[in-house]
Amino acid sequence: MADRRPLLMIPGPIEIDPRVAEEAAGPPPGHLAPAFLEAFGRSLELMRTVWGAGPDAQPFVIAGSGTLAMESAATNLTDPGDRAVVVNTGYFSDRLATMLRVRGADVVEVRAAPGRVPPVEAVEGALAESGSELLFVTHVDTSTGVRTDAEALAAAAARHGALSVFDGVCATGAERFEMARIGADVYLTASQKAIGLPAGLALLVASPAALKRRRTRSSPPPMVLDWLEWLPIMRAYEERRPSYFSTPATNLVRALARSLADLAEEGMESVYGRHERAAAGMRAAWEALALEPVPESPASAAWTLSAVRYPAGVDASLVAAIASRGVVVAGGLHPEIRAEYFRVGHMGYATRTPEMLERTVLVIGEALRESGWDVEPQAALAALEAAI
Ligand code: PMP
Repeated sequence: MADRRPLLMIPGPIEIDPRVAEEAAGPPPGHLAPAFLEAFGRSLELMRTVWGAGPDAQPFVIAGSGTLAMESAATNLTDPGDRAVVVNTGYFSDRLATMLRVRGADVVEVRAAPGRVPPVEAVEGALAESGSELLFVTHVDTSTGVRTDAEALAAAAARHGALSVFDGVCATGAERFEMARIGADVYLTASQKAIGLPAGLALLVASPAALKRRRTRSSPPPMVLDWLEWLPIMRAYEERRPSYFSTPATNLVRALARSLADLAEEGMESVYGRHERAAAGMRAAWEALALEPVPESPASAAWTLSAVRYPAGVDASLVAAIASRGVVVAGGLHPEIRAEYFRVGHMGYATRTPEMLERTVLVIGEALRESGWDVEPQAALAALEAAI
């Protein structure tokens, strides 16, 4: 392969389509230029398709990270003193709970051990007992590789008259999520994961009920996060009218239009299927390497990343051994098991480029062998290839 730069296989940022990278590079478009109005307006329309959102749902595109999108949801939906239930599956749910507490909310957490998801009945119990009008969930927990059951949790929230908010930073554009069908109220993400862009955009879609709740809160969020400040701007862009509140990340929005158009053109069923197959292939490879995944049940293992335990006699130095062979994977993140496992992203462009998955599996197998774990890298490669 001519391109020997390191292959980026962490759970975000990810390898991206060169056509999308081209849109993100190049001379910056002005935020009032007709071509830019078209890219922004089209992006907002396409977000509804990729999110599976209804025509009355409101997309927001704001310069920033996933954490900013989380802060936007937390502060637009809560007043100090409001109660909120958080389904806690790991590192990013911890962050959300902290964020809500900083906002002054009264937070009830329903926790699970690393690699597990809390039962929906336990979440229902917390909603009933607390009388909370808000349920916050991490769709895919990037620290453990588990996926929560968004459909069941959105339904549970609805049964208790609560709005449901999903952090899809490691899921949106890869894991099945049909916002309108399942009745979710907010689905948020960032540009650097399965959406397939460089980092720099916070992306969020809010249901009419979520927007209504913002209007009934008495403590406004910080101005730059306030949905009511951004609403006229998003509407203007969707009508291809120039407007200004705070300068959009114009190069990234141009890239967003390209990447969302590609996803929509492929069709979300195909996108989901591609990620499900890639995940099955990677799981088969781990099995061939006699490695144990962190998620306890394959049914709740994410399609977007693998979290895999180091085998006996191998430690976190494996990540550096893999990197020295030109593939970048991530170490552990969950505070309780940080030193016991590593993480490999398999979302977006890599799932359309099997050579990337193959090179990753082969290199991990070789690094494991070098570390003293007696396995056959070629067997892992064959298992991956058979599954995808
Ligand atoms: N939530 C989840 C599930 C994530 O994976 C991440 C990033 N890894 C974030 C939130 C925060 O996103 P960012 O780093 O862009 O602020």
